[in-house]
Amino acid sequence: MTQQTRCTYCGAQDLEPGFLDDPRGSGATKWIAGRLERGPLGGARRLGRLRREVHALRCTTCGHLELFALRE
Ligand SMILES: [Zn+2]
Repeated sequence: MTQQTRCTYCGAQDLEPGFLDDPRGSGATKWIAGRLERGPLGGARRLGRLRREVHALRCTTCGHLELFALRE
């Protein structure tokens, strides 16, 4: 992925892989399909929704992040 990917902000090709941490420590933030809906306690409804791990590539020239929601 990194060899064919360019920074959409500055056009540089040197993108550094990483991920977005989450407060519960699962190791990666997830992308959840569909509009955000909240349950009675205020948490986001996730049940039965398609989910993908978010992969973050950081441009080493300008720091811009490119995010990809890939299959797990
Ligand atoms: Zn850049």
